[in-house]
Amino acid sequence: MKYDVIIIGAGPGGIFSAYELMKSEPDLKIAIFEKGRPLERRKCPIDGVKIKTCISCPTCQIMSGFGGAGAFSDGKYNITNDFGGTLYEHIGKDKAIDLMKYVDSINVSHGGENTKLYSTAGTEFKRICMQNKLTLLDASVRHLGTDINYIVLGKLYDELKEKVAFFFETEIKKVEIADNGYRVLYDGGSDECDKCIISVGRSGSKWMEKVCEDLEIPTQSNRVDLGVRVEIPSVIFDHITDKLYESKIVYRTQQFEDNVRTFCMNPHGIVVNENTNGIITVNGHSFEDPSKKTENTNFALLVSKHFSVPFKASNDYGTSIARLSNMLGGGVLIQRFGDLVRGRRSTVKRIEESTVRPTLAATPGDLSLVLPKRILDGIIEMIYALDAIAPGTANDDTLLYGVEAKFYNMEAELDENLETRHKGLYIIGDGSGVTHSLSHASASGVYVARHITGNC
Ligand SMILES: Cc1cc2nc3c(=O)[nH]c(=O)nc-3n(C[C@H](O)[C@H](O)[C@H](O)COP(=O)(O)OP(=O)(O)OC[C@H]3O[C@@H](n4cnc5c(N)ncnc54)[C@H](O)[C@@H]3O)c2cc1C
Repeated sequence: MKYDVIIIGAGPGGIFSAYELMKSEPDLKIAIFEKGRPLERRKCPIDGVKIKTCISCPTCQIMSGFGGAGAFSDGKYNITNDFGGTLYEHIGKDKAIDLMKYVDSINVSHGGENTKLYSTAGTEFKRICMQNKLTLLDASVRHLGTDINYIVLGKLYDELKEKVAFFFETEIKKVEIADNGYRVLYDGGSDECDKCIISVGRSGSKWMEKVCEDLEIPTQSNRVDLGVRVEIPSVIFDHITDKLYESKIVYRTQQFEDNVRTFCMNPHGIVVNENTNGIITVNGHSFEDPSKKTENTNFALLVSKHFSVPFKASNDYGTSIARLSNMLGGGVLIQRFGDLVRGRRSTVKRIEESTVRPTLAATPGDLSLVLPKRILDGIIEMIYALDAIAPGTANDDTLLYGVEAKFYNMEAELDENLETRHKGLYIIGDGSGVTHSLSHASASGVYVARHITGNC
């Protein structure tokens, strides 16, 4: 088959590029190839009863399928250039913000109309943070919540499927240059297109590297973020999360002058496993539905590590650290803050006696055997710094889950149109290394679609 545009990957990047293409040129022949399943058939086998921890399915239902890694996420769409990616470096800050706002308007008109847009603008927390050696980053955030996010995705799919050919459970193995376009190869066949948009996210990182190698697209190493997920009683952070929902706070450590930052805050949420290429790490999300809210709030504390010479495989470094926790705990480790600072492991008994009830079944252990000292020291310092603005954060019973790792794709060399050195071949979303979030990935999809249709 020959298509006008083939999109590889049905995460937010792929979905929003298809949506924009379809809206501006309804006659375009568009196909999306996705290695995962349609939304309604995505189900992680962990049921908490028969299957309690990740069993490393060949295609992870959390990371793959319609909606991509974002499908069961908390659906926090941050509108900011301060974090979430460096899209602005390619397309400019104003354009990036305009596109994120546009994405927000589509989410709102597809089921998100009753959700709240939070903003750090004009809040007193900026000053309070500064007074305590913390920096609060600027952002607006639309919190869809896992449940509404799912509804929005369902509505987008219903609209898209009328015009776009979807091929689920079809992993693209190879992309080749063909006469006047590109050929994508999958088990049992191939299809061609004039323009090809690759949007394979973090789960497609290894494959993306191979494509760049095959097509001689230069790449640069990116960073890896390592740390823990903190779980505390939500009352400790309510005064912040009620106003801001998600606050991105940065702390510069006294000891090493490293930056430690909060990431992915989930008020009244749950901690979950994440499987990236067979390595089990930790993540979190929360629901908009009041009946699904828990008594806890969770967020990650992360430190970025960037390697250059002679070692530059940042992701391999992160994977090795995460593998250590998998080796010691069979998956994710959990430790009370009090046990960590006393230099002892947590045990089942100590966790059971804790006043904070864990929302994820993880193995009690010792995170100091896993995380490098420098990272762990920074995290401990930041927990004490956060205690100054949210007293109780540094309580003995505060729970730490590890390892939380944010892997970033190698950054592919792209021009201001997110186009590779091969005309008509675009790389967008987290797979490009340029974005690391729902809003940036979606905005990159809209941007490329507008470039293809000449509506920039
Ligand atoms: C649990 C969790 C919670 C998160 N919460 C948030 C949040 O609240 N806010 C936020 O901003 N970000 C969040 N994120 C990150 C966010 O989901 C990603 O930044 C975003 O989904 C990236 O979109 P994408 O389209 O670039 O890639 P993805 O969403 O990863 O989609 C890529 C798709 O490509 C498919 N694919 C890969 N390789 C191939 C191939 N060879 N052939 C065919 N298909 C392929 C994959 O199956 C996948 O479906 C969360 C992530 C996780 C895992």
